[in-house]
Amino acid sequence: MAVTALETGMIEACVRALEGTLDATPTSSWAGTDPAVARDLLTRLARVEARISAHTMAAARVLEKARQTARNDSGNDSPGTGTGTSTGATISIDFGGDRHGASDLVNTANRIEEQTTHTEAALAAGDITAKQADVIARALASLPDDVLDAQRDTCERTLLKDAQKLTLKDLRARARRITDAYKTSEDEVDADEDTLLRQQEEQARAKTSFSMWDNRDGTYTGRFTLPEAQAVMLKTALDALAAPHQKVGTVNAATGEHDEVGFGQSYPQRLGHAFASLVELLPADRLPSNGGVSAVVTVNLDLNTLMGGLKAAGLSDGTRISAEQARRLACTAQLVPMVLNGRSLPLDLGSANRYFNQSSRRALERRDGGCTAPGCDRDPRWCESHHLTPHAISRTTDIRDGALLCTFHHHRVHDQGWAGRINPTDGVVEWRLPGSSTWHRNHRYRP
Ligand SMILES: [Zn+2]
Ligand SMILES: [Zn+2]
Repeated sequence: MAVTALETGMIEACVRALEGTLDATPTSSWAGTDPAVARDLLTRLARVEARISAHTMAAARVLEKARQTARNDSGNDSPGTGTGTSTGATISIDFGGDRHGASDLVNTANRIEEQTTHTEAALAAGDITAKQADVIARALASLPDDVLDAQRDTCERTLLKDAQKLTLKDLRARARRITDAYKTSEDEVDADEDTLLRQQEEQARAKTSFSMWDNRDGTYTGRFTLPEAQAVMLKTALDALAAPHQKVGTVNAATGEHDEVGFGQSYPQRLGHAFASLVELLPADRLPSNGGVSAVVTVNLDLNTLMGGLKAAGLSDGTRISAEQARRLACTAQLVPMVLNGRSLPLDLGSANRYFNQSSRRALERRDGGCTAPGCDRDPRWCESHHLTPHAISRTTDIRDGALLCTFHHHRVHDQGWAGRINPTDGVVEWRLPGSSTWHRNHRYRP
């Protein structure tokens, strides 16, 4: 249907009126708004946003159709709306360069038009959000082939009704079982859901990818796409590791004592550190070898460095790390230290059995009950075994030389040079800060 001049004028007037109203209303006018009123207005604004998104999608469809017409007319790939690119790319040039967001908009707009009958009206009325509309359109798109028009209609109306009371996640789950709106047998609905899930998992496997690149400033940045199940596993592990320490034994500069303050880090920062810890927790010695090359990274360091010197150490791929980092990593079983004398001749090559083996590790866990740093709440699962005497790394797996520390405190101990000991009277691990003469212990596990 051709758009008449009258309709075009109406849309222009509508957009102009919206612009005028917004121009006249600075965000500073929210200051001092009663919270109850603000909440009501927020709900209404969300509805307005949904209604506007219905118009944004309608506009995107106009552009997409024009592009297709131009392409058909010219018989080649040169559209009339831009520079030979997709509609999404054209829109993104006009608005913020978000190409991914713009093509999502075009796809959602098309899907809603092709798959649904009542959803667009519901969106335009502000009854559902754009994301809910997309879930509904996707659900209708993946209905079995033998669905009848009337059944399809029932499915759509059911989802529109359910959207009023379900969260987005629950609506997605509901949508996977939407054939129960017209199929009577539970088994059939189960089978339909299973088909959908298997399709989704197969697509997820196809999309799975991982890449990381060297920023050349001592960091790497990466990007990944994971199937949902593994992503949830990763997220759960990271959240467990990133849970803020209720107290961490950081050093109060004034008193030299542990002042047990929080991390003061943002959630993404905590997740980042959690990810780094997770990498160190990988059982590298049990991973499959890569064409005969071990998955364990070797660190080459001087005996002097191991004993407390400052000379940097090298990883097996040539990466340089600080003496402190080398000592800490050599403390855990994740890096095999190759201890060199001053002329880079190996004195001692690390091997797996010199670390705290499984039974002595279990004994450590039983004795320490978690991180031994004062005030820390990490349980043994997230702890590394620290050697109280560095030169003993190559010689003993005696638990009288070991102490459990979480990654955070393991860094601290090596960073700040904490002294550790097993209390001679009751055998509890205790720590002393540099310059202090008081021994502290973790009372959480040993009240
Ligand atoms: Zn250590
Ligand atoms: Zn700790």
